[in-house]
Amino acid sequence: MFKAKLTHANSNVDAVRNRVLIKADNDLLVRFEAKLRGVNCPVHGTSPEIRLSKEKSGYSVELVNDCCLKFTALCAEKLKS
Ligand SMILES: [Zn+2]
Repeated sequence: MFKAKLTHANSNVDAVRNRVLIKADNDLLVRFEAKLRGVNCPVHGTSPEIRLSKEKSGYSVELVNDCCLKFTALCAEKLKS
């Protein structure tokens, strides 16, 4: 799961930011992660890793390790369900 994240350019910054967000919005994140449980990219085998971004109207979910469009669409579909 963390393999994709470690190759990310700003992995340290992201890790800190993620920790803060998870602490503040744990329930919401857990709910979204539950929706993505068992989802893998059919092409790359990536497991989705998400983070929440604070918006004016609430929160938006960001897929941190979106390896390809197919995977992004798959995760978006699951999150909306
Ligand atoms: Zn992929």
